[in-house]
Amino acid sequence: MTTLQPTHLMDFAYIAAIALFVLALKWLSSPSSARRGVLAGEIGAALAVGTTLFNPELVQYKWIVVALLVGTMIGIPLGMVHMTAVPQRTAMSHAFGALAAATIGIAEYYVRFPHLTKFGMTEIALEVIIGSLSFTGSLIAAGKLQEVLPQRPITYRGQNFVSLSVLGAALVLALILIIHPEYSLLFIAMVIVSLIFGILLVTPIGGADMPTVISLLNSYVGLSAALLGFVLNSKVLVVAGALDGSSGFILSVIMCKAMNRSFTNVMFGAFGQLQPVASGPKQDRIVRSATPEDAAGILRASNSVMVVPGYGMAVAQAQHRVRELFDLLTKKGVDVKFAIHPVAGRMPGHMNVLLAEAGIPYDKLVEMETANSDMPQTDVALIIGANDVTNPAAKTEQGSPIYGMPIIEVDKARTTMVIKRSLSPGFAGIDNTLYYMPRTLMLFGDAKAFVGDIVQALSDGGGH
Ligand code: NDP
Repeated sequence: MTTLQPTHLMDFAYIAAIALFVLALKWLSSPSSARRGVLAGEIGAALAVGTTLFNPELVQYKWIVVALLVGTMIGIPLGMVHMTAVPQRTAMSHAFGALAAATIGIAEYYVRFPHLTKFGMTEIALEVIIGSLSFTGSLIAAGKLQEVLPQRPITYRGQNFVSLSVLGAALVLALILIIHPEYSLLFIAMVIVSLIFGILLVTPIGGADMPTVISLLNSYVGLSAALLGFVLNSKVLVVAGALDGSSGFILSVIMCKAMNRSFTNVMFGAFGQLQPVASGPKQDRIVRSATPEDAAGILRASNSVMVVPGYGMAVAQAQHRVRELFDLLTKKGVDVKFAIHPVAGRMPGHMNVLLAEAGIPYDKLVEMETANSDMPQTDVALIIGANDVTNPAAKTEQGSPIYGMPIIEVDKARTTMVIKRSLSPGFAGIDNTLYYMPRTLMLFGDAKAFVGDIVQALSDGGGH
């Protein structure tokens, strides 16, 4: 009978960590269990990292402690950013993950050099290429979202040819290295070329496509981590990387579907380029606006209200006022629901998170398809800081950069009210024809202040 060895205990701990990662992904797929999912992922990661520290091959802890301290010092402020900055924060996390994968791969090359098998060199080369391009790609994505880099796509003639040639060069260098691992200068060249390819890959993509790009980069980082797992012979890293890679890929597919776009269009479509202003008699278009008291009166007289939140609600931090409005209207017997567009806000699940934070019951949140089928029977569609996700141009204007993107069809409701500060465009930089439609009322103002005023008017019994 074999006795229980410390390595067996380590294997058990790794299996438990992997089970926690799987559960984390399962729980993260619903707002009601998402917090549990985050906790499961955190415990799983702590277990996997903690167990690795007991690896008998570890000879000294000095540098691990230093890395832990530096990582904690960077990680804590990074985790405390404002909600609206979470997309760029996520991109930074991917950049760090990719940097870690790439540098460990580079270190492995030098540790094993020149005794690398062809298979070992293939693993290291692929892992380092993907890690390096994901590092610079994620940095560019973070820069675009933080607006330290231009958000619009930066394009030039022959761009795809140049980018693909650079990727081709990295692959050719990898091939030569597989045959001659001792050509260490070529290894350095391969790393540099891969870093350049990451920059070329993301600069031509517009800011509005960044969420899809970030989830795609997430899947690259996962793939790189899985390959690193093979290099280091770490099964837990292989599984964790594969889970990360596949979930990131699935999220990219879901987001592409939500925008009715193909991967090729996202990667090479240069979406979000400044459009020439549409010709036509713009000045003749009529905009109807209303006061908070008018809006309160309309809401009071309605039976059903569909709230459509967007990025402006996040900027204004209006979710708690929205909750007060929800409570008041529900008390008055109005059926209030929230229509969630998959790309509303600036990150996947942005609206869900804000509404959950304000305590809106999950069962009041409806997905776009349900919202659209309910819309013709809805008295009021109340848009709070959303713009692109309601723009009818997505259905009618073939030349529009958002043409084909499914929208929340607020123009089908009996009355449409839009809270925003001006007629300015949203993320895609295009005019919204909704604002000039006869059944649309513009409620000009900051979302938090305006919703607060409506709540006040309703509580005072105003707006009759
Ligand atoms: P938009 O960016 O289209 O529009 C937001 C609107 O909010 C603006 O037009 C602005 O108008 C208004 N606004 C800003 N501040 C305030 C405020 N304080 N009070 C009231 N209104 C305010 O947002 P949507 O949510 O409709 O669409 C999201 C867009 O972002 C899509 O194009 C999507 O592709 C893109 N995107 C989505 C990501 C995601 O993962 N969800 C990530 C990155 C981009 P005004 O200035 O007149 O007030």
